[in-house]
Amino acid sequence: MRSLSRSNQHFRKAEARLPLGVSSNFRYWGEDRTIYVERGKGARVWDIDGNEYIDYRLAYGPVILGYADERVDAAAREGMSVGGVFALSTEPEFEVAERISRMVPSAELVRFSNSGTEAVMAALRVARAFTGKDGHIVVEGGYHGVFSEVMWYSEVEEWSPDDGDPPVLPYGDGVPGVTRTLFHTVPLNDAHALEDLLKVKHDEIGAFLIEPIMGNCCAITADAQYMKDVRELCDRYNVLLVIDEVKTGFRVAKGGVQELFGVRADLCTFAKAIGNGYPLAVLAGREDVMRRIGDSVVHGGTFTAHSVSLAAAAKTLEILDETTALADIEAYGRELQAGLSRILDERGIAHSFTGHPALMGLFFADAAPRDYREWIRSNYAFYDALAPELHDQGILVEPDSREPWFLCESHNVECLVETLDKFERAVDITLPKLGRQRQPEDR
Ligand code: PLP
Repeated sequence: MRSLSRSNQHFRKAEARLPLGVSSNFRYWGEDRTIYVERGKGARVWDIDGNEYIDYRLAYGPVILGYADERVDAAAREGMSVGGVFALSTEPEFEVAERISRMVPSAELVRFSNSGTEAVMAALRVARAFTGKDGHIVVEGGYHGVFSEVMWYSEVEEWSPDDGDPPVLPYGDGVPGVTRTLFHTVPLNDAHALEDLLKVKHDEIGAFLIEPIMGNCCAITADAQYMKDVRELCDRYNVLLVIDEVKTGFRVAKGGVQELFGVRADLCTFAKAIGNGYPLAVLAGREDVMRRIGDSVVHGGTFTAHSVSLAAAAKTLEILDETTALADIEAYGRELQAGLSRILDERGIAHSFTGHPALMGLFFADAAPRDYREWIRSNYAFYDALAPELHDQGILVEPDSREPWFLCESHNVECLVETLDKFERAVDITLPKLGRQRQPEDR
């Protein structure tokens, strides 16, 4: 049985100095289950109690090659010798921007930021300046960072389809109510809903912000036709299409989700996988739109294009662009899905997968949901009960079923065999615990 005694002890010490004992609310898993990591290597993580895990969270996506990747870390050490930041620019910024533009055709011009939040915040500012319209639309279930203009969500857990549209609530206290007036929502995969909203509000709305594979909503995925309709509606109503590739970028394809769907954004944002964990983010897009930066639109930041992150990104992108890394990750994902399906099918447990094999959602329902409203019809209670059993077995997945599984180049055949073995055990422990009324096939 896994012991978390040192993590528990450390939690009691840490919470005296750090709210919830952590540095991001999402890392707090409760007093007894919050994990403190000692180190990571490849696809594995060890906590301070010495427990070993195969990791399918990968820091919510940045780790695309594996933890402590020697190729990237060597490049980062060279970046360190450059000197960090100067409040001046360096040549490698151009080289990394060139590589991004080659990989993602819509990225005609590029600016660097430090985090996904900053990049999306900048995207909305540029869109407001370019269109002269302050509002934006976000897809229900979408998450785009921790700045106030996007810190609203559609509450579906207590909602029933007979109630009309789900209520929109702030993520927490401190989100100014005034930002609600800028924030509009539509369900995914419903072009009519988008058209209806734009017909009425197009003179208030400057941006449609979308993650076509919803990396924060169990990888629920847009249809190719929906993305075509979205592109057409944005053009018709003078709304910029902002594709948030913070999770999908440099993960689901070399050219991101835009390559998969054959759609071109006006603006797009990247962060996580770009530096295999070193903090770097990108705002990129159409030249005429991006040229507003410097032409009365402010973009900057003390730490932007830090020499360590930039060197790490140069090496990570080189590997992703010039080797079979992404194809190998996808192949692992397909084998993992086949193995999980076999185990679940043998037990008559209805399930489906969403997203992409490198960023996949596991649903306990026959048909994958097409939008966040449908997610409530899946048996997420089974997922919620299964996740802690997986942790106890040494398989790290997000406790909340809305967060997809992430894969990296270091997931290898040993990881696959071990994962499937432990997954089977965790399912067999979970099923009797749930009792008859809550077994998946009952829903
Ligand atoms: N956009 C998307 C789609 C994200 O998934 C996230 C973070 O998970 C963000 C933006 C914010 O990125 P960061 O946490 O780097 O600020």
